[in-house]
Amino acid sequence: MQHRIVVLGAGYTGAIAAGRLARRLRREDVAITLVNAEPHFVERVRMHQLAAGQDLKPRPFSEMFAGTGVGLRLAKVTGVDVDRRTVAVVDANGAEELAYDTLVYALGSGWNAQGVPGAAEHAYEIAGRPGALRLRERLARLDAGRTVVVVGGGLTGLEAATEIAEARPDLDVALAARGDLGDWLSPKGREHLRKVFGKLGITVHEHTTVTGVEAERVATADGRVIPAAVTVWTTGFAVHPIAKATALKVTDTGQIVVDGTMRSVSHPDVYAVGDAAMVMGPGDKPLRMSCASGTPTAWQAADAIAARLTGGKLPNTPIRYFNQCISLGRKEGLIQYVTADDRAVRAALTGRLAAVYKELVCKGAAWGVANPTLGLPTRRRRVTRERAAAGSAVKAPA
Ligand SMILES: Cc1cc2nc3c(=O)[nH]c(=O)nc-3n(C[C@H](O)[C@H](O)[C@H](O)COP(=O)(O)OP(=O)(O)OC[C@H]3O[C@@H](n4cnc5c(N)ncnc54)[C@H](O)[C@@H]3O)c2cc1C
Repeated sequence: MQHRIVVLGAGYTGAIAAGRLARRLRREDVAITLVNAEPHFVERVRMHQLAAGQDLKPRPFSEMFAGTGVGLRLAKVTGVDVDRRTVAVVDANGAEELAYDTLVYALGSGWNAQGVPGAAEHAYEIAGRPGALRLRERLARLDAGRTVVVVGGGLTGLEAATEIAEARPDLDVALAARGDLGDWLSPKGREHLRKVFGKLGITVHEHTTVTGVEAERVATADGRVIPAAVTVWTTGFAVHPIAKATALKVTDTGQIVVDGTMRSVSHPDVYAVGDAAMVMGPGDKPLRMSCASGTPTAWQAADAIAARLTGGKLPNTPIRYFNQCISLGRKEGLIQYVTADDRAVRAALTGRLAAVYKELVCKGAAWGVANPTLGLPTRRRRVTRERAAAGSAVKAPA
């Protein structure tokens, strides 16, 4: 009997995990099913580019996974029953249940309105393709001189503000940040950021917490009102509620709590990767939601599953950060080097070279997904019946 591995979500981490599993395990021994709502891979790290009017290369999963041994199931996941080991899905033909022996949960995240009044109704978001396309359409209709306020001074906010300002120099683009602009960056990084924002004519509202959004303006905690024909909300991501509705141990925010092999601490037949997982990183700090740290979680999960099923050695590679790669439009960038636990060091790469570097990182990430089984050494040890049973039946210590 084949061991059934079901991977939920074909974003960066789910697609990588599925491809790596296919490479590590013998086809006769396992049935790998990758479930995703959409038929195309979405390069989430380029959603600000899509919103600013650029076209992205179509990446159909049917081509990416052809001949890899990974079965595709295009359907929306509506629930997971970790006691019965089933996943509820729905597609145009109706609802269905998929049974698994091992589950990899990689449903990613969406935007986070954080309960700010009016944000859900009036703000635009770029956490996924539908939101980015909606903003793109709105920007295309926006007359010269109107104001676009990007709320959130983190990585996504910086990328969104600069991309929009570069693509639409006729608009009045502003950024609202809680602290100083780029206050976590090195002095060199901060200085470069100010230079680029200045060149692009972006107004920066520092020490500004937005407390309300209306159709044409935002209100701030210190009583100001900032005109905003369009508000773009980029204050962080929130996970989908599916995991929280299960018996899995999750954080208050709904991320699945996993150990160093990305295995659920409550249910040993479930693994979680990427944004959906709460993984402790270096310095006992949770990894932030990112492709940079999500990709290694996918490698770790796939290698751990393969090792447990075949009796191989468990992976034990610490996940660490190296840099933060920030695009500042198409011509400018900032590569901020960081410590293992993501704190900025003095060194930073800036300018055109940084933009090229960031572009290569994005291309590399998409290449890794589009060629899921290429470039990996094949280690196809047999799955034994005993190990397969042990791998899914033993309860992990609480
Ligand atoms: C504008 C922007 C810029 C970014 N830039 C960077 C960057 O420069 N560097 C970096 O490291 N990170 C960046 N990120 C963050 C990065 O994109 C995410 O952390 C990463 O995509 C997480 O990968 P994932 O596989 O966990 O989830 P995702 O990539 O979100 O994939 C989840 C998948 O699950 C599918 N799915 C979701 N719900 C369901 C459902 N119910 N049923 C079926 N399928 C479902 C989705 O369609 C998707 O295919 C950026 C994000 C944004 C929005």
